[in-house]
Amino acid sequence: MTLKVVEKGNLDINVHIAGVNDVALSSLKNPSLDVKTKQKNLALLHGKYWIGCDCNNESTPYLTIRKSNNSYHLVNLNGHGHHIKNCSLSTENIKRDAVIIGHVIKDNYISTDHRPHDMKRHLPYEECAVYPLIKKIMSKAGFESISVDNSYHTNELNLLDAGIEGVSFNSHPLSEILNVGYGHFKKHKQSILLGEHKELIIVDVMDEYVDDGKCLTFKKYYSKSFFDSFKFFKSFTQIDLLSTSPSKMCKGPYLVISNLKDISLNANKKFIAPSFVAVIPVASKSQWCLIKNDYERQMIAQLLKSLEWYQKRQYACTVTKPFESINTPLGHCHPDFIIGSVPNRQIIEVMGGEERAYEGQKLTSHIIMSSIGKVYVYDPFKANGKDLKKHCFDISTKAITMAKSKNKQ
Ligand SMILES: [Zn+2]
Repeated sequence: MTLKVVEKGNLDINVHIAGVNDVALSSLKNPSLDVKTKQKNLALLHGKYWIGCDCNNESTPYLTIRKSNNSYHLVNLNGHGHHIKNCSLSTENIKRDAVIIGHVIKDNYISTDHRPHDMKRHLPYEECAVYPLIKKIMSKAGFESISVDNSYHTNELNLLDAGIEGVSFNSHPLSEILNVGYGHFKKHKQSILLGEHKELIIVDVMDEYVDDGKCLTFKKYYSKSFFDSFKFFKSFTQIDLLSTSPSKMCKGPYLVISNLKDISLNANKKFIAPSFVAVIPVASKSQWCLIKNDYERQMIAQLLKSLEWYQKRQYACTVTKPFESINTPLGHCHPDFIIGSVPNRQIIEVMGGEERAYEGQKLTSHIIMSSIGKVYVYDPFKANGKDLKKHCFDISTKAITMAKSKNKQ
């Protein structure tokens, strides 16, 4: 088993390059290899070749080599195979040592006449090309943590400060290309037309959207009658609605992340527009953690009430909604909420509609979770409809009461 080298875009031709033998190649998969040797090997491949990973023979994943800030890094090519979960070259694992996220968005611009009519799709999180990027910046910015002190403004500052530091997208440092808010769209477009930027990323939290067949129009409310709106045209923007349900999107607000670049094929006539947009539900405008369904949102609202009550009485407690699964002595699990810390750690699991089909799996993962903390299950389908609010209240209060600790004065 070894990595193979192919010509860029030509997967059928295996090539051999002087100075890059099998040993040098397989060393790219070795996380402990020294950076200098890795960089030397990547430099030899840069610009001309792709690498095919050996972890998955059924659909070989290909990587390309990008150069930024004078260093080379491997980038997974979207739409070209999948690594197996533990492969050291999967995007999840590359980012650990490279601090650079790479993801080449497949250019879905075909031509005005031949493009598919409706480029909107419902996707599970993991299948969206920019999800690793979203997860990375959201967790660096601290949005996994739910707190009464969070606000739209502090979130924006955290995103622009810690969230994007050291992270690149398609070789551009995010610190240079990320903007918050669609309000300055025209200005951003102009800066690409003038050649000041090749590509920009725009992030915002919007309240709702309407799909009229041709466009998705997003609105962001500042008061009942005062709002901003922004349109994405299905004919030239790939719209990914990320949710766990195959066709239904949960209510807003949503994190709306898109890029902006020249998407025309004609070199003489520039056409600047988003080539993709990913839409993910978040808890609220002040809590930007990613949620799967409205029941999780209900639980967050309830947890915040309890947190506030205890905070006024000088008790502290942390609440997190982890983006990644965690390791336990019994195996991996992905709790919906973790309340407090060891030794008082509590866990809340929310059974959304889509989980019903996997009840058996859910129960197994609850057993795994119980090895790191007491598990409380909020199951709206088993609660008597009338008592839903109380059921949610009881669980959040119980978990926080058990997990809280006295604030040090
Ligand atoms: Zn692999």
